[in-house]
Amino acid sequence: MSGPTLLKESGPREVFCGLTSIVWLHRRMPDAFFLVVGSRTCAHLIQSAAGVMIFAEPRFGTAILNERDLAGLADAQEELDRVAKELLQRRPEIRTLFLVGSCPSEVIKLDLSRAAERLTDELQGRVRVVNYSGSGIETTFTQGEDGALAALIPFLPSSDERQLLLVGTLADAVEDRLVHLFNKLNINAIKSLPPRQSTDLPAVGPGTTVLLTQPYLTTTARLLKDRGARVLTAPFPLGAEGSRRWMETAARDFEVDEAQIDSVLSPLMERAQIALAPHREVLKGKRIFLLPESQLELPLARFLQRECGMELVEVGTPYLNRDQMAEEIALLPEGTPVMEGQHVELQLDRVRDSKPDLVVCGMGLANPLEAEGIATKWSIELVFSPIHGIDQAGELAELFSRPLRRHQLLAH
Ligand code: SF4
Repeated sequence: MSGPTLLKESGPREVFCGLTSIVWLHRRMPDAFFLVVGSRTCAHLIQSAAGVMIFAEPRFGTAILNERDLAGLADAQEELDRVAKELLQRRPEIRTLFLVGSCPSEVIKLDLSRAAERLTDELQGRVRVVNYSGSGIETTFTQGEDGALAALIPFLPSSDERQLLLVGTLADAVEDRLVHLFNKLNINAIKSLPPRQSTDLPAVGPGTTVLLTQPYLTTTARLLKDRGARVLTAPFPLGAEGSRRWMETAARDFEVDEAQIDSVLSPLMERAQIALAPHREVLKGKRIFLLPESQLELPLARFLQRECGMELVEVGTPYLNRDQMAEEIALLPEGTPVMEGQHVELQLDRVRDSKPDLVVCGMGLANPLEAEGIATKWSIELVFSPIHGIDQAGELAELFSRPLRRHQLLAH
């Protein structure tokens, strides 16, 4: 059978939990607040992830469950109500409050959906309170976004309007550019989830065509289908080729004629080839191993192999939604090992045995690998960087050529 070799493994994992996605979600919706119901470990994780990656403004916090809560001696529900109300009094600009579950809140079976309903009632619609889980028992880091968006779906108004709904957080500038290009293709009714204001929720219904901007939104996509929307299957908008196919898929759904698609996208493709050329020089023939973390691994591997000439040693992914990823899978070279799940020890053994030129992995694994002389790229950086779209293909390639250049310099 042709195509990549799809494999699975399980065992000890080394990935960030879903709380991490708060770091980009809170930037997207400045009128929302993310209250993690968790332990001091959870608070430290968010603060260090946010502190490392961005200039963090206080749009998230942690309601600390202490030893008494965990031992079931105190009524954690009452404590949570008190913390949430104090927060909303202090911060009247908050319009949506996300109660984010964690490993500790799950262990003591704290019912956050009940808390969210109760608080919404008490606040009489002034603030919408919703809940989702970011616990490391249930989620890897990008799945936190899937949980947050899925929690908003019941609140989306209904509409039959013919429209394109872009689903998944993008950098605002990247989104503006993509919307501009869709407008040039005569697609003008375009909405986003998450919206830029948490109260500005898009309507959804049978006229809605959903185009996922990120591959990790499986639950959100299913719930949108349940609301009557059609979810397109396309390669994801990473790299020039993937972004072009992604835009073409939407354009065809809106019956834009092929000549117009070509006249808008072909000049961008030519520019992208020029931007990619110097990076391709560095990347061509180099061997890359992608460890599972962000679920961006398949689109990245496809881009690095097809447009940058890299050789794929192994492509890991924490989960593989075969239907949504069908087009990505079809574009990977025959025989490429695609490993769903993780047994971190076995995976590290394979990394060491295969001696790749570059490993994409979590922050926790990068330092030890670098110490062994293996160049690495943090997967979390890819989630924070504006890498989507044909225009960004050069920037995306640079994220991989830079560590290799650095490594070469250090080696001499
Ligand atoms: Fe750790 Fe779980 Fe808290 Fe995430 S949710 S920081 S995995 S304790």
